[in-house]
Amino acid sequence: MSALLACLLCTAAGAATEPPSARGYDALRAARRIASLGPRPAASTAERRAHGYVARVFRKAGLDVTVQRFPVPGRGRSRNVIGLLDGPRRCLKILMAHTDTTAPGPGANDNASGVGVIVALAKRLRAIGPRCDVWLVATGAEERIYTGQPDHLGALALARRARARGAKRRLRYALSLDEVGRDRPFWLRSPAPAPRRGVERALLRAADRAGVNAVWAPDGSDSNSDHREFELLGLPAAKLGVGAGGEPCRHLACDTPSRLDRHSLTLAQRLAERALRGHQCHPARRCAGFASSDRHKASSRRWQADSHASERFASMMRRVSASLHLLVPLRTTVEVDRLRDLARGDLRRRRPG
Ligand SMILES: [Zn+2]
Repeated sequence: MSALLACLLCTAAGAATEPPSARGYDALRAARRIASLGPRPAASTAERRAHGYVARVFRKAGLDVTVQRFPVPGRGRSRNVIGLLDGPRRCLKILMAHTDTTAPGPGANDNASGVGVIVALAKRLRAIGPRCDVWLVATGAEERIYTGQPDHLGALALARRARARGAKRRLRYALSLDEVGRDRPFWLRSPAPAPRRGVERALLRAADRAGVNAVWAPDGSDSNSDHREFELLGLPAAKLGVGAGGEPCRHLACDTPSRLDRHSLTLAQRLAERALRGHQCHPARRCAGFASSDRHKASSRRWQADSHASERFASMMRRVSASLHLLVPLRTTVEVDRLRDLARGDLRRRRPG
């Protein structure tokens, strides 16, 4: 009962200091600026410039900034730009977005959109008042099609860093924002067999409260992103991104800033802000106070109905995309084959701890 009272009080206190809703202008401006740099392959000058811009914004916002460098075999060096906000330290949330692209795409939706949201979040992070430590990260070298590596190199380095800093114990989730600049409703993807308490369910609840339409679907060959590296190290992670139908301009020259939709960016940012403000139930433990509320029971029933519907929808879309496979352009087919080979490698391989 006292836990319930404490939770109600903290919710009331949170509501009193809640910053005005995100409007997406900052995210759109940042996404356009990053996309205007053109293709940003891993370890390129353009990727470094985009990272430099993010680091400047993070510093200006008062975050502790760390640049984590790592090699990209045969290409040079890339980096993750990490902006850290110190919270109570009993928990950690990571929000990340990859900065690099696959040429010839200028990567507006894939993924200046995600980095734009990260940049906008940095400016509002103190006002949001997260109750966990937060790492906002612009990762590098995510595009495996370009690096030819089996891993998303930036995310792998980041996940190892998080693990070395107690993530096994305190990471609630690492959320990759990837292609959030148009074509909502968003899909939340993860390799879990069903939405987990404190991870997908917490994120869907945040979406629900922020008035954002998002559904969960299990990972497929079209949803590879930075979250994979965390999961392979046993750390909870998911990806928020484009929904049914995928991004038709992914890795193509048509992925231009003019296609970005401010409202999509606003919704992605709102969802992220809600998630950062959310209560801090540990995935493996009962959430004191909250689980017993009628509201939670109602939303949990609604979630179960929604998730069954989204699973049916996702499996239907997989069947449709499999039957369309022969119709997609050769270039995309080659990419699908390459990613399928990489996915087979995933199955064979168990990364050593
Ligand atoms: Zn991407």
